[in-house]
This record gives sequence, structure tokens and C-alpha cells, in this order.
Amino acid sequence: MDLPRIFTVRESSHRIHNPFTPGKLAALGRALRLEPGTRVLDLASGSGEMLCTWARDHGVTGTGVDISTVFTEQARARAVELGVADRVSFVHGDAAGHVADEPVDLAACVGATWIGDGLAGTVELLGRSLRPGGLMLVGEPYWRREAPDEETAVACHAGAKADFLPLPELVERFGTLGYDVVEMVLADQDSWDRYRAAQWLNLRRWLDGNPEDELAAEVRAELTTEPVRYTRYQREYLGWGVFALMGR
Ligand code: SAH
Repeated sequence: MDLPRIFTVRESSHRIHNPFTPGKLAALGRALRLEPGTRVLDLASGSGEMLCTWARDHGVTGTGVDISTVFTEQARARAVELGVADRVSFVHGDAAGHVADEPVDLAACVGATWIGDGLAGTVELLGRSLRPGGLMLVGEPYWRREAPDEETAVACHAGAKADFLPLPELVERFGTLGYDVVEMVLADQDSWDRYRAAQWLNLRRWLDGNPEDELAAEVRAELTTEPVRYTRYQREYLGWGVFALMGR
């Protein structure tokens, strides 16, 4: 059980595996007015940057669960580096169906709503770990501009146009799931570049160092096509944000 290796090659330099800069992640942490001791569950926690920096900056405690052994190791190392290893822990495992033993104050899934088979299922899953009145965080893409056709949607890594909503409809959707949207921080094109464009140098450097690797052909093909695909489609059409929710 692990994340395919191509992800760790592509995102080898990333601490945040999403179109958020450190500044946006910090802005979200401040916006939530987190109290010291806030108990957090982070499903698909990646390299743990959210939990580790919020433990440092706001005194939160908590657990991250992620399927990637590489990212989980990086998260543990980051906790030590930031001096918060006594407050946060990282579990390697499948987050699908993961429910906290004790209800938490903040339950998050930032950029991995497939773990609950989509938005509704992920909100339901997080809700099972959340204390009444707690905060939920969901990171999710939306259509920044309407995709003119299915080809555009697929080029944005959507399965189909219908996989994502425009921003107002996404916000409305949280309401129909029974939640108030109480805060949000959105990616912008520059923060998307820090996520996507930063991958290209990772790919190139890895390729130069590993020309005989079994992944080399795949990495070469991706580096050849990806900058054009991203600038033509994803950068223009796809938005992304983290939405803070409270049950109605
Ligand atoms: N929330 C993190 C990571 C987002 S990237 C951040 O913002 O940086 C998506 C993450 O989902 C990756 O770390 C990947 O390893 C993880 N993932 C994918 N499928 C998973 C699953 N079934 N269970 C747990 N983690 C999963």
C-alpha cells in the first residue's frame, strides 16, 4: 500500500502538495483563529506541512494519515525540524474510512476527496470524527472559468466537466450537505505555479540523474507535454480552494 513512485519524483521538492503557498497555508491557519490545544485530524496529510506549521504557530495537536510512506517520513522529519514532534504524529495508512478514536475539534481533508468517493462522502467521513460545533476543512478544485468542452475538462485532470462545480455552486453544495461555509482561502494562478511549475524542475533534475530508471520514459513524456498542458488548460480553467465548514 503506497503512493505510486511517480508522485514522489514529481513532487520531490514540495512540502505542500497542493496549489497553496506557505503564505496561503499560514493565512488559512490565522483565519481559523485556532486555539492552542485544538485537536486536529488530517486525512491525506501528505508531508505534514499543515499540521506541523500550525502546531508551531498556533499550538494545535493532532494526527495525520497518509498512504505515502515517503511523504509520511517527510512529515515526521518536519515535525522534528519544527520542534513539534510531541504534538503531532503521522500514521501511514489508507484514510478511506478512517475515523478518529476520540472526536476532534478540526477534521481536514485538503486535496484528496477521492478518499470518500467524492465531496459528499468525504464530508460525511470527516463528520464522523468531528465533535459537535467543530470545524471541517475541505480542499477541492472548482471551475475558475467554465470549461468549453470535455477535452478541456480532461486536460485539467478532471474525469469529466461534471466532476467539478463553479465556485458559487461549490459553496452552495456545502450548504446542501448541511454545512455553513465559515471561511475560505483560494489558490490563485501564482500559487498554482508554485505547485505545478515547481514540478518541472523536479522532473528534469530527476531525469538527468536517473536516465536508465524504469520511470524515465514516463517522466520524459510528462516533462515534454506538461508545461503546455498546464498553461493552456489547468492554469486558466481550474481553481482550487480550502473551505472551512461548520455543521448547521
Ligand atoms: N493534504 C496534503 C497532501 C495533498 S496531496 C497537502 O495539502 O500537502 C494528496 C495526498 O493524498 C498525497 O499525500 C497522497 O499520498 C494521499 N493519498 C492518496 N490516496 C490516499 C488514501 N487512500 N489514504 C490516505 N492518503 C491518500
